Amino acid sequence: MPEIKKLLIANRGEIALRIHRACHEMGIKTVAVHSTADSDAMHVRLADEAICIGPPSATESYLNIPNIISAAEISHADAIHPGYGFLSENARFAEIVEAHGIIFVGPKPEHIRTMGDKIEAKRTAGALGLPLVPGSDGAISDIVEAKKIAEAAGYPVIIKAASGGGGRGMKVVNSPEELETQMQQAGSEAKAAFGDATVYLEKYLGNPRHIEFQVFGDGNGNAIHLGERDCSLQRRHQKVLEEAPSPVITPEERERMGGIVAKAMADMGYRGAGTIEFLWEDGEFYFIEMNTRLQVEHPVTEAITGLDLVREQIRVAEGHGLTLRQEDVQFRGHAIECRINAEDPRTFAPSPGLVKQYHAPGGMNVRVDSGLYAGYRVPPYYDSMIAKLIVYGTTRQGAIRRLRRALEEFVIEGMKTTIPLHQALIEDPEFLQGQYTIKWLEEWLDKQEA
Ligand code: ADP
Repeated sequence: MPEIKKLLIANRGEIALRIHRACHEMGIKTVAVHSTADSDAMHVRLADEAICIGPPSATESYLNIPNIISAAEISHADAIHPGYGFLSENARFAEIVEAHGIIFVGPKPEHIRTMGDKIEAKRTAGALGLPLVPGSDGAISDIVEAKKIAEAAGYPVIIKAASGGGGRGMKVVNSPEELETQMQQAGSEAKAAFGDATVYLEKYLGNPRHIEFQVFGDGNGNAIHLGERDCSLQRRHQKVLEEAPSPVITPEERERMGGIVAKAMADMGYRGAGTIEFLWEDGEFYFIEMNTRLQVEHPVTEAITGLDLVREQIRVAEGHGLTLRQEDVQFRGHAIECRINAEDPRTFAPSPGLVKQYHAPGGMNVRVDSGLYAGYRVPPYYDSMIAKLIVYGTTRQGAIRRLRRALEEFVIEGMKTTIPLHQALIEDPEFLQGQYTIKWLEEWLDKQEA
């Protein structure tokens, strides 16, 4: 079995640090790669080696495949972990890594490719027995056919780009009259944004929750699920706060649905960590997509299962079997994650800058994943997320009390952050009762404005 001795982290920010930490706990040396804007980043400082791979622009650095491969060869790294975002769901990158005799810490390239195309993903999920959102069986281009499908599914419907991602490339259509123009517009927008005009159509669910299952496969037909996360609290289809377990899923439902997703992954021969995303409405699950990588919100699953998901990814990449069998997975307590962004908490305008003072909360069952330190300058070129605060409690109520206390302690001076947003959000009576859907947060934000 190949043993990973040195791993190159093809990412930046908190996730690069997260991967570095798992590696060092496993006795694996790390190689950081960074743009010229990230020379002072925490993960660059902590890594055993650091290699500059280009200028600030992500296209020329964190997405620059030749430079990343060269960095791995120069440093004799035997594995690459892509983190999330950037090249993590680029099948071609995974293939190139493997073609250079380097271990890719991630799924098989063909699975990344299949799941990266939303139409293929839906088809595959359907064939594996996952429940789907009613809609077109593949791409739609013909308006007559599209009208029939929309009629059968029932309005409103949603037109989605096959290559879409990050909550972009979607259009809601309320009536047959709007369908043709919206379809054309969706197609040309998809072409401009993703270089692919292919769109498909599905029923627009009125008021669902976003519930996703964490899965893990060994690549040899064994797979387990690690329960669900509720990621319904979103703004512009971007997750803001996530929790596990979901306030609405019973242990029986978890076991039933988890069993279905784990079996699907086993049948597929899936390797490594993955997330199956569903919309959930009136007690029914509807598959929307699969992410073939580690997710931002993975720590809430770690908190309630006690499993280190990055360590598990690395072990699976080395060819080991899964650490746990399904019957060994135990769900304990409740965990909540807040994504803290360098943004104005009211307008969401980006607010990068120099960190003048920094104090992270601590204490029992409080985890902060962040590369911030006093004197660090948050660069304006990348994602605005600067920290994740994860709390654990034996009950949801206890976790919320701890979250309130931890948010109170958190000091980040020098820029605006979304900490005040989280503080207000977790005092809302409906949040406290766990009564929210994917529309809830935007409506709540509108109310705050008024
Ligand atoms: P992306 O890859 O861009 O994140 P997803 O397919 O995961 O796209 O959808 C992102 C979000 O868009 C979902 O979490 C949900 O809020 C909304 N959405 C997607 N499909 C539907 C649908 N059929 N009905 C209602 N909302 C939807």
